[in-house]
Amino acid sequence: MKKVLVTGGAGFIGSHLCKRLLNEGNEVICLDNYFSSNKSNIIDLTSNPYFEMVRHDITQPYFAEVDEIYNLACPASPIYYQHDPIKTIQTSILGAIHMLGLAKRLNAKILQASTSEVYGDPLVHPQKEDYWGNVNPIGLRSCYDEGKRCAETLFIDYNLQNNVAIKIVRIFNTYGPNMNVNDGRVVSNFIVQALKGEDITIYGDGEQTRSFQYVDDLVEGMMRMMQSEPSFLGPVNLGNPNEFSMLQLAKTIISLTNSTSKIVHLPLPKDDPRQRQPDISLAKEKLNGWQPTIQLEEGLKKTIHYFDKKLKKTS
Ligand code: UDP
Repeated sequence: MKKVLVTGGAGFIGSHLCKRLLNEGNEVICLDNYFSSNKSNIIDLTSNPYFEMVRHDITQPYFAEVDEIYNLACPASPIYYQHDPIKTIQTSILGAIHMLGLAKRLNAKILQASTSEVYGDPLVHPQKEDYWGNVNPIGLRSCYDEGKRCAETLFIDYNLQNNVAIKIVRIFNTYGPNMNVNDGRVVSNFIVQALKGEDITIYGDGEQTRSFQYVDDLVEGMMRMMQSEPSFLGPVNLGNPNEFSMLQLAKTIISLTNSTSKIVHLPLPKDDPRQRQPDISLAKEKLNGWQPTIQLEEGLKKTIHYFDKKLKKTS
C-alpha cells in the first residue's frame, strides 16, 4: 500500500483522483484550503480509514511521510484565480517549492498538474509539448499562466539539480461532476443556465474553440503518468482532441437538457484564447496508448445529471 498526498484534493479534479487512488488500494492524504473547492466533493470518502483530510494552504510548508505527491492545488477558473492574483501566483510557485522540497526530502515521486494555459493564446495549432506558447506576462490571466509556467521550470530544475523524480502533465479543458455550481467555466455555466432556464451567456461571437475532456479520462492519464518509465518526465498533454466552438457547446447542452434557454452574447474577456486543441501523440506513445474514451455528449449527460441533482437539493 502506497501513501499518496494529493494537494487540492477536495477540488473538482482532486476529488476524483483521491477516489480512484483509494479504490486502487492506496492510502490518501488530501490537502486543501477549500478556497475554490468543497468538502462535499470528498465527504463520501471520509468513512474510509485510509483517507485523511487536512486543511492546509500550500503557500506554507507541509510535512508528511508519503511515497507519491500529486500537486493540484491552485484555483483554476478565471473568476477564482483572478480574485486575488498575488495569492494565485504564490500558490503555484511557493506551493511547488514546498512540495518539491518535501519530495526531495522523502525521495518521493511528484507530479505537477500543469495546464494548457502555458500555451497562452497559441499561434501553433494543435499544440504539441515542444511549443513554447504565446503568453501575455502582464495580463489578467498572467497570475495563473505565468505561475504555472514557473512551476514547470521549478519541477525541471529540481530534477536537474537535485534528482527529484518529477512528472509534468498539461491539462486541457476538463469537465465533469464535482465542478462548482459557481465555478464560472463554460461547461458548468452553460449546464446550470440551461437547467435553470436562464440565458446561456456566450462571451464574444462564440466561434472560439476548446477541446473538452471528461474528468475520468484525465485521472486515468495522470495515474498512468505517475507510473510511467522513470526517464519520462513530460511535460505531456492530457486532453481530448475533439474541438468545439462555444456556440456548438451551447446548442448541444440546450438540446441535451431540453431547455427553453436562449443564447445571449456578452463581451469577450481580455486575452481569451481563440483556439485550443491538444496534440496527444506523446501521451499515446508514452502512456500505454492512453487516449480519451468518453466523448462530449456522453460526458455532458453525466455532468448534467450531477448538476440536476445538486440544484434540486439546494432549491
Ligand atoms: N465562456 C463563455 N461563456 C461563459 C463562460 C466562458 O462563452 O459563461 C467562454 C470563454 O470566454 C472561453 C471559453 O468559454 O472562450 C472557455 O472558458 P473557460 O473559462 O471554461 O476556460 P478557459 O478560457 O480557461 O479555457
